[in-house]
Amino acid sequence: MGKKIFIKTFGCQMNEYDSNRIYDSVKKIGFKKTDNKENADCFVLNTCHIRDKAKEKVYHEIGRVKKIYKKKIKPIIIVAGCVAQAENQEMLKREPYIDVVIGPQSYHKINNVIKKLEIKNQREETEFDTVSKFKYFDEIKNSSNKVSAFLTIQEGCDKFCHFCVVPYTRGPEYSRPYDKILSEAEVLIKNGAKEITLLGQNVNAYSYLENSKEYRISNLINELEKYSELERIRYTTSHPKDMTDDLIDCYGSNKKLMPFVHLPIQSGSNNILRKMNRKHTVEDYINIFNKIKKKNPEVEFSSDFIISYPGETDNDFDDTLLLIKKIKFINSYSFIFSPRPGTKAANLELLDKEISNERLMRVQKTLSDQQLKMNKSFEEKILEVLVENKMQNQSKLFGRNKYLNSVIFDGNENYIGKILNVKIEKTNRNSLFGKIHNNKDMRAA
Ligand code: SAM
Ligand code: SF4
Repeated sequence: MGKKIFIKTFGCQMNEYDSNRIYDSVKKIGFKKTDNKENADCFVLNTCHIRDKAKEKVYHEIGRVKKIYKKKIKPIIIVAGCVAQAENQEMLKREPYIDVVIGPQSYHKINNVIKKLEIKNQREETEFDTVSKFKYFDEIKNSSNKVSAFLTIQEGCDKFCHFCVVPYTRGPEYSRPYDKILSEAEVLIKNGAKEITLLGQNVNAYSYLENSKEYRISNLINELEKYSELERIRYTTSHPKDMTDDLIDCYGSNKKLMPFVHLPIQSGSNNILRKMNRKHTVEDYINIFNKIKKKNPEVEFSSDFIISYPGETDNDFDDTLLLIKKIKFINSYSFIFSPRPGTKAANLELLDKEISNERLMRVQKTLSDQQLKMNKSFEEKILEVLVENKMQNQSKLFGRNKYLNSVIFDGNENYIGKILNVKIEKTNRNSLFGKIHNNKDMRAA
C-alpha cells in the first residue's frame, strides 16, 4: 500500500491552487491523496493568516488529528501557507506535534523536507524563494482536471496596506514568466478546463519583461481568448491602482472575459482609505467603475470591505454604505478589522465591539438585499451556465452563470463541461434554481 496524504486548505483560491500543486509534487515521492483522516501518513494544513480566527482553526484541526492518532503511529504534520510563514518558530513551540512549517514561497521543497524528517525532527522552511518555487513547478504538470481551474500568475505584494499581512507572508510582488503561464494554461485546457481564473494577491499588477517588452494581464487575457476550447476567463484579486486602461479595454473587446469584476475598495471614506495606506481614493474607484461600464454595461462589481478600521467615524461608515448603494455591489465580502501582528495597524486603538458588530450587520444586510434583488431579477430569464459538476448525493447538476452565481438544475453528467441555457425558476440569496432550456447539446448528451 502506498503512502497517504491528507491536505486541508484554509482561506483563498491561491491556497487552493497551492494545495493542488503540493499534491502534484508529493505524488512524485509515492503519496496518494486521502479524504479519510483516520488513515493518513502525512497531513498538510495549508493555512491562511488574513484574520485571527484562521490561525486558531489550524490549532483546532491539529487537536483533532492528535486525538485520532493517540494510540496509533504519529503521522507527519506539516503546516504550510501564510500562518506558517508568519508564526513559524512560535507554532513549533506552541504545538510540538507539528513536524515542520513551510511558508508559501518554500513549498517546492516539500518532497525533500518530508524525506529529511526521518533524520532531523523539527524544521522550518520559510524563506522567500518565489523564483525557485515556480521554476520547480514549471517542470511538474498541473494535474487539475476541473472544468473551472485556477492558475497563479502573480504572487506577493509591495503595497503594504497598514492592515494587511500579505507583504510579510507572501513576500514581494513577483510575476511568473509569460510563456510558462501559457504552457500551464494549455495543460489545464487539455485536462478539460473550460474556465480559467488567473490568480494573484494583486493579479492586475502582473508585469513581466522580456526583450524590453512588458507583458501585462491584458496580454494574457487576450492570448487566452484564442484557445478555442476555453470558454471563460476570470481573474482575482485585483487592486484599483493597477486597473489600467489596457485591462479596462478588455471589457469591451474580449469575448471570453466574464462581465464580473471583484475589485476590493475596503472603505467608502477617503479618510479611512488614507489611514489604511490604500493609495487610491473613492473617486478613483468610481472612475474605474464608470470606464468599465462604458465598455460593457453588463459588468457587475463585487468588493471587500473592512468594517471598523481604527478611527472609523459614523460619517466614514455612512460613506461606505452610500458607496455600496451607488455601485450596487453583488457578492461582496465584509469583515471587522482584525489586527495582525507585525503590520502598521497592529497596535491601533480598536473600536467598541458592539458598534463594530452593529456596523457589520448593517453592511451585510445592505449587501445581502442587493444580492437578493439581483438574483430575483434572474427569475424567468434564460442564463448561460457552465456546468461544473454533479452535486454530491443528488441527481442535480451544479454550474455558474457569468456573475459566478451558483445555478442548480436537473440533468445528466454528460453535460459537465458544457455551457447550457438554463431557465431560472426560483432564487434565494446563495443560489439560482432552474431547468435546462432548449439546448442543441441536449440531443447529443
Ligand atoms: N490585494 C487585495 C486588495 O488589495 O484589495 C486584497 C487581498 S487580501 C488577501 C483579501 C481581503 O482580506 C482584503 O481585501 C481585506 O478586505 C481582507 N483583510 C485583509 N487584512 C485584513 C484585516 N487585518 N482585517 C480584516 N480584513 C482583512
Ligand atoms: Fe494586502 Fe491587497 Fe493591500 Fe497588498 S494591496 S497589502 S494584498 S490588501
